[in-house]
Amino acid sequence: MQYITLNNGLRMPQLGFGVFQVPDDEAERSVDVALQAGYRSIDTAALYQNEEGVGRAVRASGIDREELFVTTKLWNTDQGYENTLDAFDASLRKLGMDYVDLYLIHWPSPARNLYVDTWQALERIYSEGRAKAIGVSNFTEETLDRVVKETEIVPAVNQIELHPYLTQERMRAADANHGVATEAWSPLGQGKGLLDDPTLATLARKHGRSPAQVVLRWHIQLGNIVIPKSVTPERIRENLNVFGFELDDEDMATINGLNRDERVGPDPETFNK
Ligand code: NDP
Repeated sequence: MQYITLNNGLRMPQLGFGVFQVPDDEAERSVDVALQAGYRSIDTAALYQNEEGVGRAVRASGIDREELFVTTKLWNTDQGYENTLDAFDASLRKLGMDYVDLYLIHWPSPARNLYVDTWQALERIYSEGRAKAIGVSNFTEETLDRVVKETEIVPAVNQIELHPYLTQERMRAADANHGVATEAWSPLGQGKGLLDDPTLATLARKHGRSPAQVVLRWHIQLGNIVIPKSVTPERIRENLNVFGFELDDEDMATINGLNRDERVGPDPETFNK
């Protein structure tokens, strides 16, 4: 496993495991397979309603808590200083943990205009040692700038939609300028469509790998943190096996060239649910 050192010195596995849209019991089974396969980082969220299943799988694994990196996220309707503190307590309770490694604001939800207050609650949680790092998700240049200017702590991570059809060059550069690590959600573009791209098929043949492995390798070489999701045991193992080959500069440029600025999820400028 490779690690990314976050701006507070915490080491985060560069490749982790996502559980979006996975019901609680299935999340427990998938996380169990992922931990046995060697994943050490799990990405959940209050919204996913599977923090309990994630917690059960982590406890059953017998792996030392310090060896694991658990991320969860604050849902939009819980934004605001006091609500955030309550929502964080509820997440810890469901996970059955006394700290998380990373706590994220799920979306800026700009119409609410609460993300700065919300961030200040995350700063408090961090200062109490109940999150080893705090960060944001789906923050734009404008919303990230505002948090950096108006609060004390620079987010450790910005988790954004990022894959070969949405390469996010500007936002990656903006994150880097602030010392914020970029984490890619839907790193496989949610599978269908992107993974059928003929250019990726050609590169996969060239390297004797699958299209998913080529895409994950591209992320790793760009320096992104990645959290592919799968409920299929062979794919869970396949997605972890991306450290034994290298894309050359031409391969990287070819994949960068697939960009269409095409989202599979909502636009953070207008997503205020
Ligand atoms: P991904 O890009 O990880 O794609 C998941 C899909 O790809 C699933 O349908 C899966 O199928 C399929 N798949 C996985 N591996 C392979 C493979 N090797 N070959 C072929 N198909 C494959 O999408 P997600 O949207 O789940 O994103 C990953 C994680 O990012 C989420 O689980 C979540 O943790 C996080 N996320 C965060 C968001 C945010 O707003 N912060 C928003 C969305 C996601 P199957 O499971 O059937 O095997």
